[in-house]
Amino acid sequence: VPALRVTDLRKTYGNGVEALKGVSLDVAEGDFFALLGPNGAGKSTLIGIVSSLVNLTSGSVEIFGTDITRRRSDAMRLIGLVPQELNFNLFEKPLDILVNYAGFYGVPRKVALERAEVELKRAHLWSKAQMTSRTLSGGMKRRLMIARAMMTRPRLLILDEPTAGVDIEIRRGMWDSLQEINASGTTIILTTHYLEEAENLCRNLAIIDHGSIIASGPMRSLLAEL
Ligand code: ADP
Ligand code: ADP
Repeated sequence: VPALRVTDLRKTYGNGVEALKGVSLDVAEGDFFALLGPNGAGKSTLIGIVSSLVNLTSGSVEIFGTDITRRRSDAMRLIGLVPQELNFNLFEKPLDILVNYAGFYGVPRKVALERAEVELKRAHLWSKAQMTSRTLSGGMKRRLMIARAMMTRPRLLILDEPTAGVDIEIRRGMWDSLQEINASGTTIILTTHYLEEAENLCRNLAIIDHGSIIASGPMRSLLAEL
């Protein structure tokens, strides 16, 4: 089964905006997949629906074969989400942020402590584990968001514009972290409006514009057409 299967997905917001106009796509397990498109294309809406933050109007979404509307909590257990905005408490320490997050999702404390060490090391934040998060650099804060999402051991990691507004050095550091996570077997889907980001990271992509997929397939064959 695919990690994600979206079938004829439509979303009309309460104000009448048709953000998604019949989107279908499959993302295979193990893939590193980019959803590329300009601002307002419908990327965040799609990610919002897949992560159950936004209600769909019609169509269906399955995560590893589990329908998100029929078996919502089962489906949500399979995904990790990295939202666009920093949304952790800046006065907490990285270690506590990770352990508390895992605790909220029912991970036993001992396991959470072990995982936090693994994830903080992978994010190159182990030396900052006990510092106030406020003192971390912009790139470190972003990597902390990724490390936190990995605490529940998701099979599918979803990131909404993970590098929007950050400079190229920070972006490269995040790309390294994401490639390492993907290499360890986690399927990754990210949205981006940077072609360069999709090009550097992804094996497959879909291009979305005005709520419709206008092209999709392997990165290499799409690049040849652009
Ligand atoms: P839903 O159909 O998912 O219930 P709504 O259309 O009711 O969503 O809108 C959800 C919230 O988003 C509302 O509070 C609305 O005011 C707000 N909102 C409206 N337009 C936009 C926009 N362009 N971008 C982001 N949020 C918006
Ligand atoms: P992207 O992530 O590609 O920038 P979005 O999914 O945020 O695109 O937005 C797609 C369209 O839906 C835009 O026209 C946006 O203004 C509109 N939109 C997004 N969120 C809401 C909302 N909550 N209520 C009403 N309209 C929205």
